This record gives sequence, C-alpha cells and structure tokens, in this order.
Amino acid sequence: MYRSNTCGELRLADVGKMVTLCGWLQKSRDLGGMTFIDLRDRFGLTQLAFNMETNAAVCEQARKLGREYVLQVKGLVKERESKNQQMPTGEIEIIVDEIVILNEAILPPFTIEDNTDGGDDLRMKYRYLDIRRNPVRNNLLLRHQVAKQTRAYLDNQNFVEVETPVLIKSTPEGARDFVVPSRMNPGQFYALPQSPQTFKQLLMVGGIDRYYQIVKCFRDEDLRADRQPEFTQIDCEMSFVEQEDVLNMFEGLVKHLFAMVKSIEIPQVPRMSYADAMKYYGSDKPDTRFEMKFVELNSPEADLVSGKGFKVFEDAELVVGICAKNAAHYTRKQLDELTDFIKRPQIGATGLVYARVNEDGSIKSSVDKFYDEAALAEWAKAFGAEPNDLILILAGGADKTRKALNELRLEMGTRLDLRDASVYSCLWVTDFPLLEFIEEDGRYFAMHHPFTAPKPEDIKLLEEGKLGEIRANAYDLVINGVEVGGGSVRIFNKQLQAKMFEVLGFSKEEAQVQFGFLMNAFEYGAPPHAGIAFGFDRLCSLFGGENSIRDFIAFPKNNSGRDVMIDAPAAIDNKQLNELGIAIKNV
Ligand code: ASP
Repeated sequence: MYRSNTCGELRLADVGKMVTLCGWLQKSRDLGGMTFIDLRDRFGLTQLAFNMETNAAVCEQARKLGREYVLQVKGLVKERESKNQQMPTGEIEIIVDEIVILNEAILPPFTIEDNTDGGDDLRMKYRYLDIRRNPVRNNLLLRHQVAKQTRAYLDNQNFVEVETPVLIKSTPEGARDFVVPSRMNPGQFYALPQSPQTFKQLLMVGGIDRYYQIVKCFRDEDLRADRQPEFTQIDCEMSFVEQEDVLNMFEGLVKHLFAMVKSIEIPQVPRMSYADAMKYYGSDKPDTRFEMKFVELNSPEADLVSGKGFKVFEDAELVVGICAKNAAHYTRKQLDELTDFIKRPQIGATGLVYARVNEDGSIKSSVDKFYDEAALAEWAKAFGAEPNDLILILAGGADKTRKALNELRLEMGTRLDLRDASVYSCLWVTDFPLLEFIEEDGRYFAMHHPFTAPKPEDIKLLEEGKLGEIRANAYDLVINGVEVGGGSVRIFNKQLQAKMFEVLGFSKEEAQVQFGFLMNAFEYGAPPHAGIAFGFDRLCSLFGGENSIRDFIAFPKNNSGRDVMIDAPAAIDNKQLNELGIAIKNV
C-alpha cells in the first residue's frame, strides 16, 4: 500500500495516528534544529516535520531532497505548535520516521505555485507541470463537475449517450474541415466532424428519441483568442418536440448546472427575438448584465434630429445612442479616448456625439450649435436620461452603426464596472433569420445550418423567394454576452430539405452526393425533431469566471494551432506518405 491517507485530509482528530503519505515536495524550510517540508498531492498540502535531535538520520536525508521529488513518508500525526488557519491541514503535522524517494526530479522550469513565474509558452510546453498548480487543476476539476452534472441531469431526463463516428465525410457547408487521408482508399479522405449534426438526426430516425453526447468537434478555422481547433460540445437532440420543449428542457439543464456547480439559483431565462437583440443591442449575443439599451433618434415614429442643419445626422440612415448612467463626469480626455476607440479600423465609426445631463438638469452637448436646450431635452427624454448621465450617439449606415455602438456599449459596460464575472445573466435569443446573404460569395448561406427548419408561418416566403425575410425556429443561449449554445428545430421532410439545398445553391446531384443519406433516411419515417449544442469549454470558462477556454482544457493548442508540448502538427516520413498515396512537393 503506497499511502494510508491523502495530503489533504488529516485533521486534529487524526492526532496520534501512524500514517503513510505520498506526494511531491512543494517546498522545504531548514531552520537548523528543525526541517519542514510541505508535501503536495491533488488533495492538498501536509506539513512534514523533521527533528535533528530526535531523528538526525532522517532529518539529514530530508535536507537533501529537491523540489518536486516524489516521496513516500511514514510518521505520526501531531498537533502543531503554531497552527496555520489558512490551510485545511494547518492544525497538524507529521513527525516523519521514514522517507522513501519514489522518484527524483530535476528543477522545474517554473515555480509550481499559484502565482507562477512561468510565462504562457513555457507553461504550455510543460503543461504536465502546469497541471500540478492549483489554478489549473481546479479548472480541470470544475470541468469534471460540469460534465458529471450534465450527465446526471440528462440521464434523469431519459437521454441516452451515444457515440458517433470521428472519421466522417467532408461537407462544403460550414467551417473548413480537418481531413484524414484513407490508406485503404487511396486519394480519398475522411473529415473530422465539425459537429455530430447529421448523425444525431439519424439517431432520431433510428428512434433513440433523446440523445446526448459530450463530444469532441473539429473546425479548421483561423484561431482567435477564444477558439480551439478541437473543442467539446454537449450535443443534444430530441424527437416529438417543438422549440418550446427544447428551450424548457435545456433551461432546466442550465439551471441545474448553476445550482450544482456554482450554488447559484438562476431565475427564469428571458427571451428576446433576434430582431430585438439587433435593434436594442446591435448584437445577437447581448451582454444583459447591464441595461444601456440602444435608443434610435431618427426612427419614422420619432425623428429628433432632422431639420436642424446637422448634416451628419440628417444624412445618416441611422442615428442611435446609449445612455451611460452616472458618467456625465467624463472628462474631455475620456471622451477623446472613446472617440478614438470607435474610430479604430476594427470598429470604423467616423465620430462620436455626446450630451451630458448636468446635476441641475441642464444639458451640454458636442452639437450645441445645432440643437438647443429644448431639442436636447427631447433627446434626454427619449433616453430616459437623468442628471449625471452621459448620452453617446453614433450615426451612419444602419448595420455598421449598430455594430459599432455594440462595441461602445460593451466598452462603457467595462469602464463602468457593469460586467462583473461573478454575476450571470442568461438570455435565449430566438427567431434567427434562416438565411444570410454573403456579399463575397453572392449567395445565401444557412445562418445556423442547412437542416434548420423555417418557421411554419414563413415557409410561404421560401416559395415567394423572399429569402432574407424567412425566420427560423433557431435559438441561442447567451450568458454574459457569450454564445454558450445554439440549436434549432430541424427539417424532417425530404422535399423541404431538398428545397433548402436548392436555395443554398446545390444542384440536385450535388445535394444527393453530399446529403443523400439524410434525405433518404427522411423517407423512412423521420420523426419531428429538434436539438441544441452547448460549447462545453466555454461553459466551463464562464463558470470559472475567466475569459479563456484554454485554461479549461487539459492540453490546449496555441494560437497557431500547435501543441507545443508534443510538437504537433509535424511532418510524417516518406514511408507513411507513400502508404497514403500522398506526394508532397517542395518540402
Ligand atoms: N450542430 C449545431 C452546432 O454545432 C448545434 C445544433 O444545431 O444542435 O452549432
């Protein structure tokens, strides 16, 4: 038996017991007559004490041990003279009789402490050492909890976990696929799944009724800060359900996870249509931890800007602003910073108009030349602005201006401390457009995916060719401005699915080659079905109160898609290439 106890469990009640512990040497302190070692394992730290007078041999031995040595120690649990209340085991120590060195360790390249001196690259290269640190290990434990509670909830709701294949077929829709050459079929390739979408639908045709899977998905996209080429989804599908059933079922999951993992009770999750999300927040994933809704100043119902000679506003398709509570004290410098912020090329607005509501209710704006007190008072009324509030207004093309104001709203939310990571605000965004026109390609693409059903009342628009106006039974779950999950009611009728492929620019033959298996399956009695998938890594990072999903993945890739620890991707040798029938030129 290697150990009788872990390094995290001994307490005053254990005083007097002989125990055996195993772990890594966290740190040692040599105080002349006494030597102390903190021994660490996954469960905690325990102080080991060595006394030169009573056991010189073991004490000498202890003094020679280096950081991260793997030890087995045997000794007596004793009450400590100076207790450490910060440590769960801080009231006891082990008077060690015997040390066995299970393994030596060379000096780690960074300190195994909560606040390490190791930079990002170094920690990734030696990720196994990084995982010894509390913050990283705690993230993995949190991830385990989220997975376990997900399974508990879904199992309780009669969902079945079914594995779907990882070697599948490349499809032209969606992101870029990772491909795997087939040795047995030279010149042919598998693709790694971007999601198990079609398989879970086929499971519904197979009568599984309620499916889920915590599953790896792969997308070969250019990596942004919060993306990984391989990531994990909680993927779900249900039969004989409408959108309402899915929203309720998975609102239940989210509530369960918050309750079990965070001990937070989430109120009923509000819903907002995509159209409203764009109108009031300029984003389909608004951060609703704070209000600061958009107010339009030149809508047909209420035009508060025209006829005053201010060309910028008069010529603009949209004049829209936000009201930042208690920000009227913003200085010239701070307003200039905001102007610079919205003028950055990524945002691309041309200018910022502001109006301050002073303590006494008078209003001072950057366009006083054009708008008198009475006109500004109308603005303030529209924004519901009160003394000490700051109104910020952008103008220009509608889409671009909404996007820019969304960025400005988030920036103000951050500056005014309205985006506390320990506060959670959930939102369902519903009624997404079915199709989205992409200028560069000159055609429509499915906004969610090609299997998403139009709203029944909008199917006529499909026939009429009013493609941009069709709404889908598609929904996203947004938490704190992060899209955590998304799904839809599916098409389960072959004709409608064929029509959808036609609208997406597939010829009949192409559709048959790519998705014939699904359309054929629909002819054998497909049930009405719908589903959703959650970004599991993202959910974990939200629960952990951090932005980066990398911190919640045991062995993540860096921003160039590399695993720097195992040094992948890497070249393969010619023998392998030959077997695969692949010739690489100019390497
Ligand atoms: N497969 C979809 C996705 O990965 C989710 C779904 O519709 O269930 O986004």
